[in-house]
Amino acid sequence: MKHESLFQDIINKKTPENIIYQDTIVTAFKDINPKAPVHILIVPNIFISSLNEINEKNKDILAHMFSIAIKIAKQKKISKEGYKIIVNCNKNGGQEINYLHMHLLGGKKLNSLY
Ligand code: 5GP
Repeated sequence: MKHESLFQDIINKKTPENIIYQDTIVTAFKDINPKAPVHILIVPNIFISSLNEINEKNKDILAHMFSIAIKIAKQKKISKEGYKIIVNCNKNGGQEINYLHMHLLGGKKLNSLY
Protein backbone atom coordinates (compact mmCIF):
# COMPACT_ATOMS: atom_id res chain seq x y z
CA MET A 1 0.00 0.00 0.00
CA LYS A 2 1.32 3.44 -0.92
CA HIS A 3 2.13 5.87 1.87
CA GLU A 4 -0.27 8.54 3.02
CA SER A 5 2.23 11.35 2.34
CA LEU A 6 1.37 11.18 -1.37
CA PHE A 7 -2.06 12.70 -0.74
CA GLN A 8 -0.79 14.93 2.08
CA ASP A 9 1.64 16.53 -0.38
CA ILE A 10 -1.21 17.15 -2.85
CA ILE A 11 -3.39 18.73 -0.12
CA ASN A 12 -0.48 20.93 0.98
CA LYS A 13 0.26 21.84 -2.66
CA LYS A 14 3.78 20.42 -2.49
CA THR A 15 3.13 18.48 -5.70
CA PRO A 16 1.75 20.14 -8.84
CA GLU A 17 -1.54 18.23 -8.90
CA ASN A 18 -4.59 19.80 -10.44
CA ILE A 19 -6.70 20.60 -7.36
CA ILE A 20 -10.22 21.24 -8.53
CA TYR A 21 -11.77 22.03 -5.15
CA GLN A 22 -10.48 22.76 -1.66
CA ASP A 23 -12.04 24.00 1.57
CA THR A 24 -11.06 23.67 5.23
CA ILE A 25 -12.29 20.05 5.41
CA VAL A 26 -11.65 18.35 2.05
CA THR A 27 -9.58 18.54 -1.13
CA ALA A 28 -10.58 17.18 -4.57
CA PHE A 29 -8.23 16.50 -7.46
CA LYS A 30 -8.10 14.45 -10.67
CA ASP A 31 -7.04 10.83 -10.42
CA ILE A 32 -3.65 10.31 -12.10
CA ASN A 33 -4.90 7.15 -13.84
CA PRO A 34 -8.53 7.91 -14.74
CA LYS A 35 -10.95 4.99 -15.19
CA ALA A 36 -13.63 7.27 -16.68
CA PRO A 37 -13.84 10.66 -18.45
CA VAL A 38 -14.49 12.17 -15.01
CA HIS A 39 -12.46 10.52 -12.23
CA ILE A 40 -11.91 12.71 -9.21
CA LEU A 41 -10.63 11.85 -5.75
CA ILE A 42 -12.07 13.59 -2.70
CA VAL A 43 -9.96 13.35 0.46
CA PRO A 44 -10.21 14.77 3.99
CA ASN A 45 -7.57 17.39 4.79
CA ILE A 46 -6.80 15.66 8.08
CA PHE A 47 -5.20 12.24 7.87
CA ILE A 48 -7.64 9.32 8.19
CA SER A 49 -6.15 6.04 6.99
CA SER A 50 -9.35 4.25 5.94
CA LEU A 51 -13.10 3.91 6.53
CA ASN A 52 -12.19 1.79 9.56
CA GLU A 53 -11.03 4.96 11.33
CA ILE A 54 -14.43 6.68 11.02
CA ASN A 55 -16.06 7.16 14.41
CA GLU A 56 -18.68 9.27 16.22
CA LYS A 57 -16.26 12.23 16.41
CA ASN A 58 -15.19 12.42 12.76
CA LYS A 59 -18.17 10.91 10.89
CA ASP A 60 -19.37 14.32 9.61
CA ILE A 61 -16.34 14.38 7.31
CA LEU A 62 -17.91 11.56 5.29
CA ALA A 63 -21.11 13.56 4.81
CA HIS A 64 -19.02 16.51 3.63
CA MET A 65 -17.04 14.33 1.22
CA PHE A 66 -20.32 13.08 -0.28
CA SER A 67 -21.75 16.56 -0.49
CA ILE A 68 -18.68 17.90 -2.31
CA ALA A 69 -18.62 14.88 -4.67
CA ILE A 70 -22.27 15.57 -5.54
CA LYS A 71 -21.48 19.27 -6.09
CA ILE A 72 -18.56 18.44 -8.38
CA ALA A 73 -20.72 15.94 -10.30
CA LYS A 74 -23.17 18.77 -10.98
CA GLN A 75 -20.37 21.14 -12.03
CA LYS A 76 -18.96 18.50 -14.39
CA LYS A 77 -22.47 17.97 -15.79
CA ILE A 78 -22.51 14.23 -15.14
CA SER A 79 -25.39 14.27 -12.64
CA LYS A 80 -28.27 13.71 -15.03
CA GLU A 81 -26.69 10.71 -16.80
CA GLY A 82 -25.39 9.41 -13.47
CA TYR A 83 -22.15 8.59 -11.74
CA LYS A 84 -20.55 6.26 -9.23
CA ILE A 85 -18.96 6.97 -5.85
CA ILE A 86 -16.56 4.38 -4.48
CA VAL A 87 -14.56 4.12 -1.27
CA ASN A 88 -12.19 1.16 -1.13
CA CYS A 89 -11.17 -0.16 2.27
CA ASN A 90 -7.94 -2.03 2.93
CA LYS A 91 -6.51 -5.00 1.03
CA ASN A 92 -9.66 -6.89 0.08
CA GLY A 93 -11.44 -3.67 -0.83
CA GLY A 94 -8.65 -2.73 -3.24
CA GLN A 95 -7.35 0.28 -1.29
CA GLU A 96 -3.91 1.12 -2.67
CA ILE A 97 -3.22 4.33 -0.78
CA ASN A 98 -3.23 4.44 2.99
CA TYR A 99 -5.33 7.63 3.13
CA LEU A 100 -9.13 7.70 3.08
CA HIS A 101 -10.36 8.81 -0.34
CA MET A 102 -13.59 8.80 -2.29
CA HIS A 103 -13.65 8.14 -6.06
CA LEU A 104 -16.16 10.11 -8.15
CA LEU A 105 -16.51 8.45 -11.56
CA GLY A 106 -18.72 9.40 -14.50
CA GLY A 107 -18.99 10.56 -18.08
CA LYS A 108 -19.55 7.08 -19.51
CA LYS A 109 -21.60 3.95 -18.76
CA LEU A 110 -19.79 2.25 -15.91
CA ASN A 111 -19.91 -1.43 -15.08
CA SER A 112 -20.99 -2.75 -11.71
CA LEU A 113 -17.59 -2.15 -10.06
CA TYR A 114 -16.17 0.89 -11.89
P1 5GP B 1 -7.50 3.11 -4.33
O1 5GP B 1 -7.24 1.89 -5.14
O2 5GP B 1 -6.54 3.25 -3.17
O3 5GP B 1 -8.93 3.24 -3.90
O4 5GP B 1 -7.27 4.33 -5.29
C1 5GP B 1 -6.08 5.04 -5.35
C2 5GP B 1 -6.18 5.95 -6.54
O5 5GP B 1 -5.15 6.93 -6.45
C3 5GP B 1 -5.98 5.23 -7.88
O6 5GP B 1 -7.13 5.42 -8.69
C4 5GP B 1 -4.74 5.88 -8.47
O7 5GP B 1 -4.82 6.06 -9.86
C5 5GP B 1 -4.67 7.21 -7.74
N1 5GP B 1 -3.33 7.76 -7.58
C6 5GP B 1 -2.20 7.08 -7.23
N2 5GP B 1 -1.14 7.89 -7.17
C7 5GP B 1 -1.61 9.14 -7.48
C8 5GP B 1 -0.99 10.42 -7.59
O8 5GP B 1 0.21 10.61 -7.37
N3 5GP B 1 -1.80 11.46 -7.94
C9 5GP B 1 -3.13 11.31 -8.19
N4 5GP B 1 -3.82 12.40 -8.56
N5 5GP B 1 -3.75 10.11 -8.09
C10 5GP B 1 -2.99 9.05 -7.74
